[in-house]
Amino acid sequence: MPDTNIDNQRMEKIVSLCKRRGFVFKSSEIYGGLNGVWDYGPLGVELKRNLKDYWWRVMVHERDDVVGLDGSILNHPDALKASGHADGFSDLMVDCRTCKSRWRDDQIVDKGKGKRCPNCGGRDLTEPREFNLMLETHIGSIKPGSGPTYSMHSTGMTGASGAELPPQGLQTQVEIKHPTGEQVALVYLRPETAQTIFVQFKNVLDTSRKKLPFGIAQIGKAFRNEINPRNFTFRSREFEQMELEYFCRPEQGMELLEYWKEERLKFYENIGVPRTKLHVLNVPDADRAFYSKGTYDIEYEFPFGRQELEGVAYRTDYDLSQHQKASGKSLEYFDEETKQKFIPHVVEPSAGVDRTVLALICEAYTEDEAPDEKGKMETRTVLRFHPRMAPVKCAVFPLLKNKEPLVAKAKEIVEMLRPHMFVFYDESGAIGRRYRRQDEIGTPFGVTVDFETLGEKDAALRDTVTLRSRDSMEQERVKISDLVAKITASIR
Ligand code: ATP
Repeated sequence: MPDTNIDNQRMEKIVSLCKRRGFVFKSSEIYGGLNGVWDYGPLGVELKRNLKDYWWRVMVHERDDVVGLDGSILNHPDALKASGHADGFSDLMVDCRTCKSRWRDDQIVDKGKGKRCPNCGGRDLTEPREFNLMLETHIGSIKPGSGPTYSMHSTGMTGASGAELPPQGLQTQVEIKHPTGEQVALVYLRPETAQTIFVQFKNVLDTSRKKLPFGIAQIGKAFRNEINPRNFTFRSREFEQMELEYFCRPEQGMELLEYWKEERLKFYENIGVPRTKLHVLNVPDADRAFYSKGTYDIEYEFPFGRQELEGVAYRTDYDLSQHQKASGKSLEYFDEETKQKFIPHVVEPSAGVDRTVLALICEAYTEDEAPDEKGKMETRTVLRFHPRMAPVKCAVFPLLKNKEPLVAKAKEIVEMLRPHMFVFYDESGAIGRRYRRQDEIGTPFGVTVDFETLGEKDAALRDTVTLRSRDSMEQERVKISDLVAKITASIR
């Protein structure tokens, strides 16, 4: 049985470390914060970039059959109507009349004794009602109440107020009637990156000339007005996804669904999440989207429970068919061998950047015992990131900051390493304290320049440094000229 108290304490320590060391901050914190929205600080942004870069490398650059896309965040409402999001992307919401808290219906405890509010235990709950998770905005400066009347100017079309009108083509399709009778140009912030891929399928196919099976990959922001954002960054209202739409022939769908399972599990192992903490949950028929022939979630054992990191779904030809129908444009693929035209099927591995970053931090967080300056044992906090993911790869220290030749040599080493990795230079405080600071942010290597480096004690040791490993805390003597090769071998 997991001990929830220990797990809660662990999570509290992780959240506090994230803020203290500049991984994650509450968005708009000085204004009281924005619920479900987070900012990544100097170290968080590095960790996130390392994750996204590695995903891109494995999913796009190291394959012949995948190309990339960077689609827009503002999505055409017709596209999200065709995909089913505008009408059906909703969760059931329940309010507790006693403590006024709001919950997703599936979060309300129901163990055969009826539903209870998880906050106050009250049973006075509203009936569940649908809540659409899409975030809306408007384009053009047309706001309800401005009552635009349009006129043509030689420079283009503007509203009577001088406001720019929505682009041509959007006017007939997008403008909706506001209750007051005025026209509003509504667009959605995308709830997933996938739809921009489907909508651009034809353009990508025509320009990349790929043959089935092939994929289109994308990393980018998505927005969901989650009813109850929680568990730190796990459930946010603004987040990033790493999605691949892998198009195939209908008969290949189920086989490819299986193929991606091993690929994706390997990916997590290669960034430092052990297989023992990963679980594949086959989504039962009743819980699957009606168009999907098979879906599984890849889950990770977070301190707050086993939760989804990534969903992999065989979506059949549903999305492309819907967009073909709604747009009136052919999204078919022409098979040159069989001379047949058909709408490709698709398998979609869809992962969350923020959830994976959180898993990496949770997995890396460790406390162990290490001697302090005087040899007394103390608790050491270490983020044992896989070196490939670590925000800072190597810290460089002159043993003493007031010895110019040591400082000069250390700075020379920083310049030598910089083109190959993100390096941090630190000369302040006792060397043991400097090591601890790096352990706490997960820097896998520490290079110390000492008097041996200058050849003062033993000429044979000139131009060697100590290379310290974060995990074992062991130090080895290494030639400066070997440093790049030695470190890059493990951070690639
Ligand atoms: P959940 O059931 O947890 O709400 P989902 O099944 O709706 O997730 P998908 O629509 O499959 O999620 O999205 C794919 C991935 O995007 C998820 O596996 C997750 O990593 C990420 N994701 C989805 N919603 C959020 C969110 N609100 N905050 C952070 N990441 C998210």
